[in-house]
Amino acid sequence: MEFISQPLPARKRVALVAHDNRKGALIEWCSRHRQLLQRHQLLGTGTTGSKIEAATGLQVEKLFSGPMGGDQQLGAKICQGEIDLLIFFWDPFEPMPHDPDVKALLRIAAVWNIPVACNSSSADMMVQSALMESAFEREVPDYQGYLAGR
Ligand code: PGA
Repeated sequence: MEFISQPLPARKRVALVAHDNRKGALIEWCSRHRQLLQRHQLLGTGTTGSKIEAATGLQVEKLFSGPMGGDQQLGAKICQGEIDLLIFFWDPFEPMPHDPDVKALLRIAAVWNIPVACNSSSADMMVQSALMESAFEREVPDYQGYLAGR
């Protein structure tokens, strides 16, 4: 398949997800970047989103909890071009009952070439990039072109 260029907007739609043992770290990270995050649109899985809202006062659109399908909802939104950035503090030390959903979310983020951070140092670097608050072009698979035989 060929690739085409597609823009990510200056005001980013940021997906926030953390497994239980990593929720504290994500809340701490959100608190540190509160000023910046409030200039963007936040969404997240149910429990992560609720805890971030309660701890920081940031407004987060909450989807289902991860094990109830929230990761899949985020994946669908990535496909539909409704998420620009994924911050996903997954737990490298514990097995998860919804591991296939976790893998699927990470895979679909790679397919659609959105920036992904899985720990606080990557997330720090991501949001401190000049691209965080400006529009930029990224390459995505040209599925329409593929169908049209281009
Ligand atoms: P949660 O889901 O925010 O509802 O805990 C996250 C996950 O486990 O994927």
